[in-house]
Amino acid sequence: MTDRVIRLTDAGRAQPLPPERLDGPARGPSAHGTAVRDTRARPLRDLRISVTDRCNFRCTYCMPREVFGSDHRFLPHAQLLTFEEITRLARIFVDQGVRKIRLTGGEPLLRRNVERLVEMLAGLGDVDLTLTTNGSLLAKKAAALRDAGLKRITVSLDSLDERVFRAMNDADFPVARVLEGIAAAEAAGLAPIKINTVVKRGVNDQDIVGMARHFKGSGRIVRFIEFMDVGATNGWRMDDVVPSAEVVARIDAEMPLVPVDPAYPGEVAERWRYRDGSGEIGVISSVTQAFCRDCTRVRLSTEGMVYTCLFATTGFDLRALVRGDAGDDAIASAIGRIWRARADRYSEIRTAETAGRRKIEMSYIGG
Ligand code: SF4
Repeated sequence: MTDRVIRLTDAGRAQPLPPERLDGPARGPSAHGTAVRDTRARPLRDLRISVTDRCNFRCTYCMPREVFGSDHRFLPHAQLLTFEEITRLARIFVDQGVRKIRLTGGEPLLRRNVERLVEMLAGLGDVDLTLTTNGSLLAKKAAALRDAGLKRITVSLDSLDERVFRAMNDADFPVARVLEGIAAAEAAGLAPIKINTVVKRGVNDQDIVGMARHFKGSGRIVRFIEFMDVGATNGWRMDDVVPSAEVVARIDAEMPLVPVDPAYPGEVAERWRYRDGSGEIGVISSVTQAFCRDCTRVRLSTEGMVYTCLFATTGFDLRALVRGDAGDDAIASAIGRIWRARADRYSEIRTAETAGRRKIEMSYIGG
């Protein structure tokens, strides 16, 4: 076994559940009208579910080919949560306060019949259900996803420059096919469409203004994301980060912007609209302006591990409970204890030293 596989396996090892003394009402919101809260009084609101650890891209900041090469062993199918298991857990999370569910991966549209899972999750009721994709299969899948109950979607696209985009996805995938996927999503009525662009200095930062200009007036919202030290394999350095303030300044210099109030407390993206009324952009500043204080996100991995931070080094094994004989109340109790014990604030304490920790890979945990 290569070191690259060991690294991922070690990182995914489970830690014991928090003690019973952190137990609370098994069904927080339904019993008490409020979501369970962590040690910093942050409610549990957002659930990100990774439905596959596989991706057909090898983006250098997420699944670098040197690590995720042809000899990399992805999870065997039997280890993945089934759609029924995911839906059961999602329902319990919703009972604990979750109001937004995002399907991620890997590339979620690679999971066979993922639209069936969308349909099952859409049946949970009053939940904002969305999905983040690299767009490569979106032209084929957009209508089926809409029919299954998906309302909106986020597409990752790091550059409109063919050479830069192909180099960043490291799979020789063309820009045009992602744009076709975006158009298909729009035609299917998925709205709003958000475009996520990870900005890395010296790689695609020269495309920031062009990207903004391309989507200005289209109704699609580009969100520029600071390059982060996710996982343990993307070679992150602070020098590679383009601060969001610089992104805003560059766009503002050519297409004037004004700030917009957040749509809701804890919104990750800082919003700016064009002064001429032709739409808006967002910036996500995990590095230069940490938003841990309002972070309400929990992550469920493809194989049923729960992580309370994108930069976690260990998680909690819910699959063992699901595949054991635990009832819904026991699982709800475990989720409540995990959240009550949570103290994560990685982006507030990030240093060059913490960046080197063996964190869970983003392709496993979900972005
Ligand atoms: S670093 Fe962790 S706690 Fe902070 S905002 Fe990101 S996911 Fe949330």
